[in-house]
Amino acid sequence: MKHLVVVGAGVVGLSVSRAAVKEGYRVTLIEQGPIPNPHSASYDQHRMIRYQYGAAEGYTRMVGDAFGAWDRLWADLGVKLFHDSGALAISLSPDDSTTKSLKTFQKLGISHQVLDRDGVEQVCPQLTLPDGAWGLLAATGGPLYAGRIVEALAQWLVGKTIDMRTDSKVVKVDRASASVILEDGSSILGDHLVIAAGAWLGDLSLDASDVPSYRQALCYVEPPEAYADAWLHGPCISDLGPGGNYALPPTDGNGLKFGSGSYRRLGKPSDGFQSDLALEGAQILANFAPFLRQADHYRPVRIQVGYYVRDVSRRFRIEQHGRTTLVTNCDGQMFKFGPLVGERVLGCLEGRQASSDLSRWAAGY
Ligand SMILES: Cc1cc2nc3c(=O)[nH]c(=O)nc-3n(C[C@H](O)[C@H](O)[C@H](O)COP(=O)(O)OP(=O)(O)OC[C@H]3O[C@@H](n4cnc5c(N)ncnc54)[C@H](O)[C@@H]3O)c2cc1C
Repeated sequence: MKHLVVVGAGVVGLSVSRAAVKEGYRVTLIEQGPIPNPHSASYDQHRMIRYQYGAAEGYTRMVGDAFGAWDRLWADLGVKLFHDSGALAISLSPDDSTTKSLKTFQKLGISHQVLDRDGVEQVCPQLTLPDGAWGLLAATGGPLYAGRIVEALAQWLVGKTIDMRTDSKVVKVDRASASVILEDGSSILGDHLVIAAGAWLGDLSLDASDVPSYRQALCYVEPPEAYADAWLHGPCISDLGPGGNYALPPTDGNGLKFGSGSYRRLGKPSDGFQSDLALEGAQILANFAPFLRQADHYRPVRIQVGYYVRDVSRRFRIEQHGRTTLVTNCDGQMFKFGPLVGERVLGCLEGRQASSDLSRWAAGY
């Protein structure tokens, strides 16, 4: 039985582990905290999956494949941890990301509806948009229940050919020999090693470790009563105004969550996970206020802090060095692709895809 060592039990490490045990591997999954780790980027009530990727055709296509991988996961888990609310991107200016997404949808044949401003406000009566605004609605898309997914993935692995090591920090890796050294001085040698350490990659002193990491804070909000149902039954919203504002609906007992791409700051997990609800909540809400009816009646209730690695290319990096595969540069984008990446990494290990092709695919070409 081939032995795969996996560092990191976020959605990537767990998905690689699942794909590996399904291929008949013995797996050692090493996680510095609990499994799942509430501080990992993969742990939150929800993460969005949506087709809208601007002009990036490779990633738009990848979303379709990702839905297939999610369906295979739901079949394994016996439960679907996703709400297909649809995903609506708003355009406020010519040549913005939504305009580019529309061109990509038309080219790739992604099913969609274009809504004028009144049409958007019918679907989302909680919004008030300027003249000329329009929306691009993809019928498929919505919140993936991230925390419940990584918990269910970890549970699914119990009793399989896997040794899950919690509270075990890897302090050194040797990519040529697929071996790791743990904080307690012990070492583990595999036939192959996968590193999926998220924003902690910098601690491992690899040549890819200098990629910047960012702190991203999202705000859970309580909407005014008049619009609670509109949020509950409406689509996910992406690209609402400058800076990439987005909202995830409060379905299945989760909260309504607002995020802004532009709210990220350089930072690393060792900076901590604390937040200032009043200050940060007000800053995040301010990005949404111009587009919300009864904007003054939204109340921030909790800030969720996470960290991810992201360079200027914004392209995922899956690279093989010796007997090691490194998955990094996951940005605020990888959750939706986790199970698909797990399958592709194993496909490469099993010789179904060349590692150079896997790298190109991951980079969205
Ligand atoms: C605020 C925020 C919002 C996001 N929104 C979305 C979204 O809407 N849609 C989407 O698709 N994606 C989104 N993302 C991105 C997505 O969540 C991440 O890209 C994805 O979860 C990364 O998964 P991962 O497994 O690579 O890393 P993580 O989930 O961070 O997991 C890495 C794990 O490795 C462990 N680890 C690290 N170093 C070591 C070590 N030395 N030894 C042992 N264990 C180690 C860590 O403890 C951690 O558990 C968002 C991310 C954030 C932070």
